[in-house]
Amino acid sequence: MKIHEFQGKEIFRKYGVPVPRGFVARSPDEAYRAAKDLGTPVTVVKAQIHAGGRGKGGGVKIAKSPAEAKDLASKMLGMQLKTHQTGPEGQKVRILYIEEGLDIGKEMYLGITLDRATSRVTFMASTEGGVDIEEVAEKHPEKIIREAVDPAVGFRDFQGRKMAYALGLSGDTVGKFVAFCRGLYQAYVDTDASLAEINPLVILKDGGVIALDAKVNFDDNAMFRHPDLAALRDKDEEDPREAQAHEHDLAYISLDGNIGCMVNGAGLAMSTMDTIKLVGGKPANFLDVGGGASKEKVTAAFKLILADPQVKAVLVNIFGGIMKCDVIAEGIIAAAKEVKLEMPLVVRLEGTNVEKGKDLAQLGSQDHPRRQPAPGR
Ligand code: ADP
Ligand code: MG
Repeated sequence: MKIHEFQGKEIFRKYGVPVPRGFVARSPDEAYRAAKDLGTPVTVVKAQIHAGGRGKGGGVKIAKSPAEAKDLASKMLGMQLKTHQTGPEGQKVRILYIEEGLDIGKEMYLGITLDRATSRVTFMASTEGGVDIEEVAEKHPEKIIREAVDPAVGFRDFQGRKMAYALGLSGDTVGKFVAFCRGLYQAYVDTDASLAEINPLVILKDGGVIALDAKVNFDDNAMFRHPDLAALRDKDEEDPREAQAHEHDLAYISLDGNIGCMVNGAGLAMSTMDTIKLVGGKPANFLDVGGGASKEKVTAAFKLILADPQVKAVLVNIFGGIMKCDVIAEGIIAAAKEVKLEMPLVVRLEGTNVEKGKDLAQLGSQDHPRRQPAPGR
């Protein structure tokens, strides 16, 4: 799950990770007030969307007075902000963050994530901050410093010093950087984050260390134990179909094929997509309705699949284990009627009560004659 920059900075603040002062603004007047309350000669108007590269796309602007902040805000609010991370249609700007303008000495990069290869939470740091870090990683991998944390003891200050020296920091800045890393690590672990990225991490002219940007992602599977963080979800920023799926507790990912898939179990869903590809088709989505799919859930799943204009046919592949096939069949029939299904629907049922389920399916499809058993069977 992703959150906005201002929400990430709020979390950092709680953990003693230095961030600039700032206020959220949802209207030009609020932007004016925020800039006035900040009282700094320069403020920065920052569009809050779930994508990076806002600076280059026109989503980060400097204002030299509250009136200018208001003017910039009126232009930025409602615009479709396009960056290399948004896709061609861009993302609508609904929220702004008005922040104090800082006297930047040097822009660096600091990230923290789980390295699945080593199974360790790992820091990544680079002097090449403020730019596309993916490009640095690809062209100059030697410019990325890595430091893995031992889960048994957690982050140790010497690791922070090691990174600081590798980044060429000196004097008071070293201690400040170490404290920054300590706070960041604690924030990452406590919130069950999957990524915390600061690009740029700024070394101020006075030697201070501060997070100018904040990108924080959480592990969706851990959100049940963080209701306060789950409440930070911004549905406006999500793919509408994926947001709808989340509401019905369906695991759905839209793809670019034309065969809609409804399957129970992630493994079966994956192998169903593989099978479709193997025989020359293209799946339109991944959809796992879960083990205890109710009629409501099946209907929601159908609506999701059919909301995709690319879908030309639907394949249902259900294995009834705990779930009974007749219950699933009832759900499918009711859902198909409710959504007025007008495209080919292929249902494969296997498992508990499969015969009952098939009988129901044949009763349910009034338009089609009951299929005769093949000769010789
Ligand atoms: P994005 O990564 O989406 O482009 P950033 O928050 O990293 O957005 O901002 C882009 C650039 O704008 C930064 O690299 C920095 O140079 C400048 N900037 C952002 N916030 C401030 C600020 N508070 N003070 C001064 N410059 C800023
Ligand atoms: Mg950035």
